Amino acid sequence: MFILKGIDQLTNAIAKAKKVRPRVEFDHFGRYRVSGSKGFYTVLCKKSDNGFKTVICTCKGASKGLVCYHAAAALSLHVGLARRQQTA
Ligand SMILES: [Zn+2]
Repeated sequence: MFILKGIDQLTNAIAKAKKVRPRVEFDHFGRYRVSGSKGFYTVLCKKSDNGFKTVICTCKGASKGLVCYHAAAALSLHVGLARRQQTA
C-alpha cells in the first residue's frame, strides 16, 4: 500500500505499464483487477479521511510499499472515471 502524493511518484510505474500493457478489468469504482506475471492482482484506490489517496495492490512489490505498474494502470482508469463522475 502506498499514499499517492503526486504524479511524480508514478513516472516509473507508468513507463513500465506502457511497456507491459497489463489488462485492467473494472470491478466497481475504486476496485480493479490488473493482470500481472502471476495472474490478476486486485488494486483498490480510495481516499482516506485525511484526504490522501491510498492505493492498495495485492502484489508482492506493493506490500513492500513500492509503486507497482498494476497500481499505475488501475489509477489511470480510476482518474478517468473520477473525472467523469464529477462532470456528470
Ligand atoms: Zn501491484
